[in-house]
Amino acid sequence: METILGMDFGTTNSVVAVIRDGNVEALREDGEAILPSVVGLDSDGQLLVGYPAWNQWTLAPERTIKSVKRRMGEDVRLKMGNEEYAPQEIAAIIMRTLKERAERVLGYPVKKAVITVPAFFNETQREATRQAGELAGLEVVRIINEPTAASLTYKGNDQRAERLLVYDLGGGTFDVSIVQIEKGVVEVLASHGDTRLGGDDFDRLLLDHICDAFEKEHKIDLRRSPVSRSRVLKAVEEAKKRLSFEPVVKIEEEFIGEKAGVPLHLTPEIQRMEYEVLIEPLLSKTLVCVDESLSDAGLRVDQIDRVILVGGATRTPMVHRLLQDQLRKVLHAEVDPDLCVAMGAAVQGGLIAGIDLGPILVDITPHTLGIGCLGEVRGVMSPYCFSPIIERNTPLPATRSELYSTCCDGQEAAHIPVFQGEDEDVRNNHSIGEFYLEDLSDVPRGNEILVRFDLDLDGILKVTAVERATGKQEQLTINNAISRFRDEHQEEARARLESAFERAAARGRKGQQEELPPELREAIAKAEQLLAKTDQVAATASPEDAEEIQRLTEELRSAIQRRSHKEIEAATDALEDLVFYLEDVR
Ligand code: ADP
Ligand code: MG
Repeated sequence: METILGMDFGTTNSVVAVIRDGNVEALREDGEAILPSVVGLDSDGQLLVGYPAWNQWTLAPERTIKSVKRRMGEDVRLKMGNEEYAPQEIAAIIMRTLKERAERVLGYPVKKAVITVPAFFNETQREATRQAGELAGLEVVRIINEPTAASLTYKGNDQRAERLLVYDLGGGTFDVSIVQIEKGVVEVLASHGDTRLGGDDFDRLLLDHICDAFEKEHKIDLRRSPVSRSRVLKAVEEAKKRLSFEPVVKIEEEFIGEKAGVPLHLTPEIQRMEYEVLIEPLLSKTLVCVDESLSDAGLRVDQIDRVILVGGATRTPMVHRLLQDQLRKVLHAEVDPDLCVAMGAAVQGGLIAGIDLGPILVDITPHTLGIGCLGEVRGVMSPYCFSPIIERNTPLPATRSELYSTCCDGQEAAHIPVFQGEDEDVRNNHSIGEFYLEDLSDVPRGNEILVRFDLDLDGILKVTAVERATGKQEQLTINNAISRFRDEHQEEARARLESAFERAAARGRKGQQEELPPELREAIAKAEQLLAKTDQVAATASPEDAEEIQRLTEELRSAIQRRSHKEIEAATDALEDLVFYLEDVR
C-alpha cells in the first residue's frame, strides 16, 4: 500500500504523521515528534533545522529564520547569513527534514504528502505551500485546512450532521473554526482568528513581568543584553509550560548578571494565578473570535456538538476554564493538541491511498480524579468539596498538581481523601483511597500543601502530598485507578470510530481506487517491496547500472499505474534479476 505522509507545517512547530499498521502515528525520533519550524546557518555556514536552529535564534537572528509560514505567498527574499531565499525554499527545507525523518523511521522512501494550511490561507499562499512541498521532493496530493484535519481525528456520529468548534491556539497564531461533518464530508462553515496572537505573546508577557521585577530590585534591565534576554526567554517558556501542570514554578538562572562585582541570580517563583492575570486580556480576545465565528456560521452555542482543542498553548488550564464557561460544554483534547493536525492529514492521506483505517486509539482518563477538601459546594461551605486535579479526557500518562493550605492554626496533619467522579460533592463520587500527611510544622493556618497526581498508562495513580515549607512528604499508590472504566470506554470508542472510518475508507476507495483482484494486488505489493529496495541498490551502483535500474524502475511503475498484471510481473522479474546481480557483485 502506498504511503502518503500527513504534514502539519506550522508557524512555530511542524509534525509529520503516517498511517502505519492501520494506526495513525506521529513519527518521532529520539521520542520527539515536534520539529521547531526554524532554519538557520551555523557560524560555519552549515544548515541547521529544528531545535539546533531554534537554539541559536535569539543569539544569531541574522543567520536564522523563524515563522516562515507567515511569509508564504509573499514575493520576498529572506536573508539568512549571506544568502537570500524565497519563503518556499525555507519551507521546503523544513518539509524535506520531515520527509527524511519519515523515511528513516519507516525504512523506505516516501514520495507523497498531504499538507495542511490555515483555513484563511488564500490561493497564493496555498500555491506557495504546494511549491514548497514539491521543492522538498514530494508530490503534494492534497492541501487541506488545518481545522478540517483536526476534525478528521474525531470520528463521531455518522447518522447525522455534527458541528465541531475547533479552537487552535499555537505559538504565533490563533484560529477558531466551525466545522460541519456530514456523511464523511468535512466542511469549514466559518473561520476567525488573529494572526498575531499565540503562545509567543504569553512568553513575552512573562518575560516582561520577570524582567521588570528584577530591574526594580537590581536596576538592571536583562532585556538589554541579547544573551541574558535569550536565557530568560527560554526559561520563561519552560516555566509557562510547567504552569500548565503545576500551580507554582521556580525559575533558576544563575549568574544572570553582576553588580559591583557580585554575581546576580534570577530565581523568581511564579504562581499560576499571577500568570493568569497577565494572559487574561489575550484569552478574552480569543473568546470574542469564538463568538464571531458562531454568529458567522449562524449557530448558537447549543448547536455545537463538540469542541476540539488544537495547538500547544491550549494546554493552559485557563483556556479550558474560560472556554468551558463560555460554551458550557465538555472540551476534548484526547488527541494530542500538538499532533492532531498532522495526524488528521495522515488520515486524509490514508483515505486517498484507500487504506482501511482502524480506530485512533488514545488512552484517556474517563473520569476526573481529585481530592476532597474544605470548600464551596453549590454555593455553601462544606467539608465535602471535590477539588479536581486530573480532569476527565486527559490523555495518559498525566501528571498534575495543585496547591492547598491548612485551615487551622497549628494543624498537625492533613487528610488527603482521593476521589474519582464529576460531582462537586465528594459524597456523590467514588472514593479510591486516602492517607494523612502528619507531623506538620506548628504554624498558623495557611500552611501550604502541594498535592501531586501521577497517573501512568496502566492506570496506576501515585498521589504525593508535600508540606512546601519543609519538603516533608507522604505518598499513596492506587492500582487500577481507572482500569475498570477504561475497558468499557475503549470498546465504545473503538466501535464508534471503526464504523465511521470504514464508511469513510469505503468512500475513499470508491473515489480513488478500484477494487483489485487479489492476484494483482499481490503482484503490486511484491513490486512495491522491490522498488523500496531498489533505491538503496541504485545509490551504490555504477552510473550505467544506475541508469538501467532507473529505466526498469520506470517501466515497472508505469505497469503498476496501468494495473497490467502481466506487465507488472515481467517488469518485476527483469528488475529483480538486475538487483540480485548487483547485490551479488557488491
Ligand atoms: P504552531 O501551530 O504555531 O506551529 P503549536 O501548536 O506547536 O504552534 O504551539 C506552540 C506553542 O504552544 C508555543 O508557544 C509553546 O510554548 C506552547 N506550548 C507548548 N506546550 C505547552 C504547555 N504545556 N503549556 C502551555 N503552552 C504550551
Ligand atoms: Mg498549528
